[in-house]
Amino acid sequence: MDLKELDLSYILHTYNRKYVNFKYGKGATLFDEEGKDFIDFTSGIGVVSVGHGNERLAKAICDQAKKIIHISNLFLIESQAYLAKELVELSGYDMRVFFANSGAEANEGAIKIARKYGEVDGEVKRYKIITLKNSFHGRTITALKATGQEAMHNYFGPFPDGFVYAENIDEILKLIDEKTVAVMIELIQGEGGVEPLEIKKVQSLSQELKKRDILLIVDEVQTGIYRTGEFLASNLYQIEPEIITLAKGLGGGVPIGAVMTSLKDIFSFGDHGSTFGGNYLSTRAALEVLDILKEEDLKERIAIFSSYLQQIAKNNDLKEVGIGLMRGLRTKDSSTQEKILENAFNNRVLVLKAGRNTIRFLPPLTISPEEIKEGMERFKKALNKR
Ligand SMILES: *Cc1c(COP(=O)(O)O)cnc(C)c1O
Repeated sequence: MDLKELDLSYILHTYNRKYVNFKYGKGATLFDEEGKDFIDFTSGIGVVSVGHGNERLAKAICDQAKKIIHISNLFLIESQAYLAKELVELSGYDMRVFFANSGAEANEGAIKIARKYGEVDGEVKRYKIITLKNSFHGRTITALKATGQEAMHNYFGPFPDGFVYAENIDEILKLIDEKTVAVMIELIQGEGGVEPLEIKKVQSLSQELKKRDILLIVDEVQTGIYRTGEFLASNLYQIEPEIITLAKGLGGGVPIGAVMTSLKDIFSFGDHGSTFGGNYLSTRAALEVLDILKEEDLKERIAIFSSYLQQIAKNNDLKEVGIGLMRGLRTKDSSTQEKILENAFNNRVLVLKAGRNTIRFLPPLTISPEEIKEGMERFKKALNKR
């Protein structure tokens, strides 16, 4: 059996995947089994923040694996404590952290925090959470229900109650009633199509919610960990959410999620937990990722990436969207989008799709100017072939 047959025979068919066999990577470049190089503008969907084959991260993981990989949360975990402190300090918010293993799981934690707050705060039990129609919050039954895109609720019901969808940010306040406990948003919608919310609108929403004692949950699973140039998109937007979730870029590829909250004492023993969450391996990896990224000059890299994209957008009459190293180009329809994706792959530059008509770019945050140039040249060729 060849590898493709093996995959198709034994793996559930949930991904429409490309049958390329990548053997190793260096920085933002991946090499397949024939040694062909691909420029990676996807970083495994915003995950491989410090690039492929990163020596420092590999060493940290290897050293840790030789000592302790996992002991459970029944014991003190040194690197978990240090990582929590680092996340809190880099964010600038007065918060505590709970560690999970993925974005959806971090969001589950956020929803549980909000629900508990709605039970213990005030006279009426509040449980409703308002999210946006075009949002994406993950694939567990609850995170899927929090996701506003109706097409994702076709099967799998009954879902938990209590999610209300706003058409856009302007509609959120109108949907609040006495049972509303929280609003959950992505500041730049990722899967929805690289759609940044307007800063002024988010700031006034945030102020209004504070006045009404309604929690603001910011899903930073994709925007967090320097993706926008700032440590968190919440820093860039200059708001102070009560709950923030993280995952994708945090572990550099090692699965880890986190929920941070200013409601420091919301949970009591036994309210929440995770077997794997925050174990030695993932938290040690995340500490190294943060150490690496703190030293990087992201501003220069973002400027180079932006200038290429702006030029490409101009020359091809496309709309350019996004912030930092979370960028997109809007195509006129989804068939154009599909064609460009296919051509890009054939020109050995990896890009992502988002929404119905957006080509999404999420390169490793450590991508070199040479890799940006090479990738953009390949992408230009892909566009010319339309
Ligand atoms: C990817 C993503 C998730 C889901 O993360 P998983 O690790 O796949 O569970 C949730 N929210 C946002 C904004 C995301 O981009």
